[in-house]
Amino acid sequence: MRVRMVERQLRSRGIDDERVLQAMGEIPRERFVAESERARAYDDRALPIGDGQTISQPWIVASMAALLELTGPERTLEVGTGSGYAAAVLSRLCSHVVTIERHEPLARAAQRTLGELGIRNVEIRTGDGSAGVRDRAPFDAIVVTAAAEAGPPPALLRQLAPGAPLVCPIERRRHERLVRIRDGIEETIAPVRFVPLVEGGS
Ligand code: SAH
Repeated sequence: MRVRMVERQLRSRGIDDERVLQAMGEIPRERFVAESERARAYDDRALPIGDGQTISQPWIVASMAALLELTGPERTLEVGTGSGYAAAVLSRLCSHVVTIERHEPLARAAQRTLGELGIRNVEIRTGDGSAGVRDRAPFDAIVVTAAAEAGPPPALLRQLAPGAPLVCPIERRRHERLVRIRDGIEETIAPVRFVPLVEGGS
């Protein structure tokens, strides 16, 4: 099912980064969803993971990972750990991943899953990721897996190393699109649907 997902949902739809395709072909997506959803783990869509949140559609995970243009030595920040699936994929593409999730139970479940899979280069934090993770900055790449209103949180822009990309879904005037920002220049990638980024508070 994983091979078929890579070929039919990713490669044939334009994902051509071989390292991303290989990582997507290796990480067992079924381990990141509830038992009751396992049969649907490789479906071409997002799935519920509890607490009203979702694990993104495989194509979205692969697209966002490819947009970061990781080559191996990078330190990457992910905002919105969710199930930990995207973090697991990123763990294969760079040297260290810091991922932050505001829902403690999701962070704990993700920690357990990554541990069971023997993935050791992912550090999970609990808290408001819109403030970034200051004590680990700067990052060579940042990816946000929840939609920010109007623009990316300024703290994240400040935690980017020079020339590093930030990939983030942004909602403006009820239109949500995936953007990549690098050196202050914003590129629009595609229309998307994400759960909202909840900034501040708990
Ligand atoms: N990357 C995830 C999918 C995440 S869904 C995966 O692979 O499964 C988006 C996640 O962002 C949700 O779990 C939500 O709780 C979290 N989130 C929303 N706002 C946040 C914030 N300000 N800081 C950290 N996490 C946040």
